[in-house]
Amino acid sequence: MSTLQERDKKHLWHPLTQHQIHPEALPIVKAKGAVLYDDEGKSYIDGISSWYTAMYGHCNPYILEKVKQQMETLDQIVFAGFTHGPAIELSEALIDILPDNQQKIFFSDNGSTANEVAIKMALQYFFNRGEKRNTIIAFEDGFHGDTFGAMSASGLSVYNGPFEEFFIDVKRVAVPTDKNISEVLASLKTIITENEVAAFIYEPLVQGANAMTMFEAEHLDQLLRVCREHGVLLIADEVMTGFGKTGKHFASEYMQVQPDLISLSKALTAGFVPMAVTSCTQAIYDAFLDNSIGKAFFHAHTYSANPIACSVALAGIILLQSDEIQQGIEHITARHREFDQKIKEHPRVRSTRQMGVIYALDLEIEMDRYGKQRYEIFNHFMDQGVALRPLGNTIYVLPPYVTTDEQLNKVYGSILKLLDKL
Ligand SMILES: *Cc1c(COP(=O)(O)O)cnc(C)c1O
Repeated sequence: MSTLQERDKKHLWHPLTQHQIHPEALPIVKAKGAVLYDDEGKSYIDGISSWYTAMYGHCNPYILEKVKQQMETLDQIVFAGFTHGPAIELSEALIDILPDNQQKIFFSDNGSTANEVAIKMALQYFFNRGEKRNTIIAFEDGFHGDTFGAMSASGLSVYNGPFEEFFIDVKRVAVPTDKNISEVLASLKTIITENEVAAFIYEPLVQGANAMTMFEAEHLDQLLRVCREHGVLLIADEVMTGFGKTGKHFASEYMQVQPDLISLSKALTAGFVPMAVTSCTQAIYDAFLDNSIGKAFFHAHTYSANPIACSVALAGIILLQSDEIQQGIEHITARHREFDQKIKEHPRVRSTRQMGVIYALDLEIEMDRYGKQRYEIFNHFMDQGVALRPLGNTIYVLPPYVTTDEQLNKVYGSILKLLDKL
C-alpha cells in the first residue's frame, strides 16, 4: 500500500463501496487528455471518461483558460435576485443546441438533483393548475440518481433496498423491444388510466447504469406519443446521453416526440466541476407564474449557476460544436464499429451494441454483478493500462472524444486479451 492509500483509509468513505471487502482505492495524481496517472507513475487510458464527464479530455487547455479567466473575475454570487454573464451566455448556448421546444434553464449541482428538480417541477406543474397527479412512470432498471425522488424513479434495487418504503409512487414499464412493444404500450396505457400520472422519466435510448441497455428510437417514440396524448409530462434524463455521446448533441434528437423537461449534468461541465441543469418548455415555466408567491418554484441550491461552473459549461459547448470534436466523435464511432466486426463472433462474446461513442459487449460467462470475478476483470484492464469499469458481465467503452488511434488500439487490445484468456 502506498502512503496515499494508507491515509485514504483513515478518514475516507467512498461511494458504491463495501469497505469490508473492497480493495484499496487507487490514487490518481494527474490526468491529461485521455490518460490518467497514478502515484507510482503508471498511466491508464480513461476508457469511460471518468463516468462520462471528461469528454473533451482531462484538463482540456481551452476550458482551463476560460476557467482561469472566470476565477479571477467572479467566483460566486447568490442566484436568487442576482444574475451574471456566464449563466446568461450558457442559457443562450444551451437553448441553441437543445430540442426546439426547450425555453428555460434551471440550475442545480448534479444529475440526481437535475432529475429531482424535473420531478418536482412536473408535480408542481399539475398542483399549480389545481390538478392532483401523484404518480411517476419509469423504466424497469433505469437509473436516475440517489436523492429520494430520483432514487424512487430508479429501478436498480441494489441501490434502493433500505429506502423503498419512503418512495414517491412510481409505476414501471419494461424497456421496449421488437418482441414486447405491444405489451409495453398496453401496460403504459393501463397505468395511465388507473393512476393520476404526472410524468414519465426515461433515459433516452441508452440506460447507462443498467449495463448500457439500448433500445430503438421508434419504440420510444411510440411510448412518448401515448404519454403526450394523455397529458403526461415527458422527462428525458440525458445526464449520461447528453453532449454528443450518441452521435447527436442529445439522444432526444433521434425521436419525433420531444420531452417537456430535460436533465443534464456529467459532460455538461466536462469533468472540471459539478453542475447540473434542468431545461423545460415555456408552458411548464408559465404554470409557475402568479401574483402569489405560493406558485413559484421554491427549490434552490446554494451554488446554483456558479459562475465558474457556467464558464466551464460554456467552453464545453463551444468545443462540442468544433470540427475537431465532431470529427473525434465520428472517428471513434467508426473505430468501435470496426472493432465490433472483429469480435462479435468471438465465443466469449454473447452480444454487442453501440450508439455513437458508446460501445458495450456482454461476456458469455455467468457472474455476479458485484462478485469477485468483476474485480479480476477490472484488474486485468488496469494491468493493461486501461481504466474500464465492467457492469456485471458487460464491458463498455465510452472514451473521451480526443482519444487517439493508438490509445483506442490499447483499449481494444486489452479487451481482446481478456476474451482470449477467459
Ligand atoms: C449519473 C447519472 C445520474 C446521477 O447523476 P449524479 O451526478 O451522479 O447525481 C442520473 N441519471 C443518469 C442517466 C446518470 O447516468
